[in-house]
Amino acid sequence: MSIIDQFDLTGRVAIVTGGTRGIGLAIADGLAAAGATVVPTSRTASDVEAARKRVESHGVESLAILTDVTDDGDIESLFERTANTFGGIDIVVNNAGVNPSAALGCPEDVDSEGYDVTLDVNLRGAFRCTQEAAPYLNESDKGSLINIASVGGVVGLPRQHPYVASKHGLVGMTKSIALDWAPEVRANVIAPGYVATDLTTELRENDKLRQSIINRTPLDRFADPEELAGPVVFLASDAASYVTGTCLTVDGGWTSK
Ligand code: NDP
Repeated sequence: MSIIDQFDLTGRVAIVTGGTRGIGLAIADGLAAAGATVVPTSRTASDVEAARKRVESHGVESLAILTDVTDDGDIESLFERTANTFGGIDIVVNNAGVNPSAALGCPEDVDSEGYDVTLDVNLRGAFRCTQEAAPYLNESDKGSLINIASVGGVVGLPRQHPYVASKHGLVGMTKSIALDWAPEVRANVIAPGYVATDLTTELRENDKLRQSIINRTPLDRFADPEELAGPVVFLASDAASYVTGTCLTVDGGWTSK
């Protein structure tokens, strides 16, 4: 197979949670451009519909399915409907994530509700989707699980311990799943640095904070969401056929400094 063909995802079916905005939408778009059928999902009907249209603009199929990853019934129905419609599932990207203000601060400041929501979406949501994905990915001969963590899954970040706990958990969970599922299914995790999305609007609007992040980043800028699509397409594809259990940092050099 030529190196170009190794990146071709034609015939594969992908689910991207939180695939309707920011990084997730860019990932859904990238997977569709590489030929995959993609189901981008989230809790907002208008965004899900817009993302479906964006995927279909690449000439591949899609479905609009509303899913809250904290709702077990929603998750079951997402996987069942996708598999029933397209005959299987080959790629799952657990991307949905939050970092609510109620979970920001030192441990003594953090609201326990903010802590619960962060863990519920970022870690338990990914775990439940992974559980539902298991039979389908096992049935596929190209099964690939990709979790979106953060540099906060690799190092500590001040005043964000619930988010950091959830993302460290996601990195560890992915490495364990890679062992449990080998050699049939590959499982990898990506740790993005600072990306220009809704999640970082407040950071980017604060001149001092924005500049301190840029100064700390060897590539001197925030990432565009589209810069996460290539790494995901790679990990989903045959080009990564010997890659499992890896945490790939995509952070402009942030964790190397
Ligand atoms: P955005 O806030 O731009 O998008 C988050 C997406 O997740 C939206 O589609 C949102 O849709 C969806 N979502 C949130 N909660 C739920 C839920 N309970 N169920 C289903 N979908 C949900 O965030 P980003 O694109 O920036 O982040 C994407 C991922 O990348 C997250 O896991 C984040 O932690 C991670 N990340 C982001 C970084 C950054 O700098 N931006 C850096 C490192 C990691 P809706 O609200 O409509 O449900």
